[in-house]
Amino acid sequence: MAIETNKFQAESKELLNLMINSIYSNKEIFLRELISNASDAIDKRRFESLNSNGKIPLLENPEIDIIPNKNEHTLTIKDNGIGMSHDELIKNIGTIAKSGSKEFISKLKEAKENNELDIIGQFGVGFYSAFMVAKKVVIETKGLNETSGYRFESDGSDTYTIEEISKAEVGTSITLYLKDDKDEEKYSTYLDYPTIEYLVEKYSNYIKYPIKMSEHIKEPKKDKDGKYIDNEYDERDEVKTLNSMVPLWKKPKKDIKDEDLNNFYKNNFHDYLDPLHSIQINVEGLLSYQALIFIPSHLRNEVYNRDEAGLSLYAKNVFIMDKCKELLPHYLFFLEGIVDSNDLSLNISREMLQQDRNITRIRDNIENKVVANLKELKEKDKEKYAKFFDLFGSSIKYGIYENYGMKNDLLKDLLVYKSLNHDSEYIDLKTYVSEMKENQKVIYFASGSSIEEIKLSPELERFKKDGIDVLFFDKDVDEFAINALREYDTHMFKSISTSSEEDLNEDEKKKLEDLNINYKRQLDDIKEALKDKVSDVKFSTKLVNSPVSLSSKDGITLNMEKILNNLNRENNGFKSEKVLEINPDHEIFKKLSTLSDDEVKEYSKLLYSEACLLNGLDIENKEEFASLLNKLLLK
Ligand code: ADP
Repeated sequence: MAIETNKFQAESKELLNLMINSIYSNKEIFLRELISNASDAIDKRRFESLNSNGKIPLLENPEIDIIPNKNEHTLTIKDNGIGMSHDELIKNIGTIAKSGSKEFISKLKEAKENNELDIIGQFGVGFYSAFMVAKKVVIETKGLNETSGYRFESDGSDTYTIEEISKAEVGTSITLYLKDDKDEEKYSTYLDYPTIEYLVEKYSNYIKYPIKMSEHIKEPKKDKDGKYIDNEYDERDEVKTLNSMVPLWKKPKKDIKDEDLNNFYKNNFHDYLDPLHSIQINVEGLLSYQALIFIPSHLRNEVYNRDEAGLSLYAKNVFIMDKCKELLPHYLFFLEGIVDSNDLSLNISREMLQQDRNITRIRDNIENKVVANLKELKEKDKEKYAKFFDLFGSSIKYGIYENYGMKNDLLKDLLVYKSLNHDSEYIDLKTYVSEMKENQKVIYFASGSSIEEIKLSPELERFKKDGIDVLFFDKDVDEFAINALREYDTHMFKSISTSSEEDLNEDEKKKLEDLNINYKRQLDDIKEALKDKVSDVKFSTKLVNSPVSLSSKDGITLNMEKILNNLNRENNGFKSEKVLEINPDHEIFKKLSTLSDDEVKEYSKLLYSEACLLNGLDIENKEEFASLLNKLLLK
């Protein structure tokens, strides 16, 4: 085979350019990326053997070697993993297959402009990071089951070459021709044993396979009496294993430092920030397993894509697969982590996972442990819990909603809300109930698209006056979750914008009766003016400062109407039954009684629009609103 020249795919080229010109200060992570690829390749080779019914013998000496060459100014990372065929080289190295990469490229550009750092690790750009430190990269590889090897070479320009070579062992070696040292950037340091030792310990300590490098040892010579001889040295090379290899999850809890967990998380799940929280699980019994579970400290790209969710699965310390979604209930998709069990078969396949009883048991157990841990966190570290809830609280609510109430008992105590009486910190439902007024039977909530908007709702006025707390629902999922939850501690939930007379005392009832008789004509006029818009117009005792407000009859609330129609824009078919509530004590109502029929009509429409705005709804007919307002202003 002659030397073949290929073009990099457009996106690869773009990513390469970014790497070559990178000002990223943390270039050392290239080593972590290449070692992690090497380790993955060994995982894959071992997995192939385990699934070959003995046809492919198990690799006996898996290892990763790091070989510096000071004369050539090169650094080689060599593994005896699965290797690559000719076509795999083109597919894996010449193109970027991952969907997140395009997004990565645009983020990286943004980051450069804003001078932000550290998003490279988040995406795990992997192999290409070599070009941060190398001016030329050569890959020599031979795939398992292949008869010949291939050599890939690229200096990061538009093209790369591939040529067939003879290579005895299966595996891959990647040789970096390091860039020349510049004042602040000493690439030659990557040829020194102490630097590599430090980097492996920092980033790759828990890689399961030995990472070996030979250290050149030069010691002053001693004479037979043990005295040093001037200017004479003993020199030898000693091969050392740089990483500890004991998987972190196998260590006793007390021996695991936070720093270890943080590094483990960042290395394995390609994040650039420490996790918000980590959970170690060690279950011994009929079904034994260990797990390390992490809650990210920010919303990550992958998190938006639930198909990408799942935990890494190991059996008896051997990697089986990553992103195993059968290990997590749907609503906990944002968790990262690994699970290792001695009670699972090594040749479990993706297809078998769903039927595997042990996998299901582990999933349920992890769910319970994570929820219990979060409850504890809520009590012990309010601030951290609030951060967690800001990021992932909606997922917990989905957990309640999408399980039709089956997870109510498990999840209800994880819910926290801002409220009328607690608007700077979250309270849970237990706290709400403990602070309920003596005669209060239900848990009140007010919903809208933001806390600021909710605080504008006129119905809150009376609750404020009476000191009754109201939970703020500012997420779309809130009302749906509460519908599934139905009650907490025998108390039902009630929207403050649901019109009802239940909560009125005798005096208030009497007052309304009188108003309905004395102002029947005015009420009828307003009803007539708004007959297309609302299903009823009523006097209310709930309002204090506002002249009007909107409420809904039982069923779909105003907020749900908005959400459902946003979800389902074509047919806009969801309608709440709106009720315009009038504050009889307000000056504007008193004024209404003095106006002509036509004027009452116009005022009614304006007041209805005002109520829509205050309740977070759009004004339906903006033109009409503007012209009515202008007319009034000119009076
Ligand atoms: P990632 O590892 O995140 O998939 P990379 O750019 O680092 O992205 O690598 C792309 C692909 O190239 C890998 O998924 C793998 O298939 C292949 N690859 C990289 N390094 C090796 C290696 N040392 N041995 C075998 N295959 C490798």
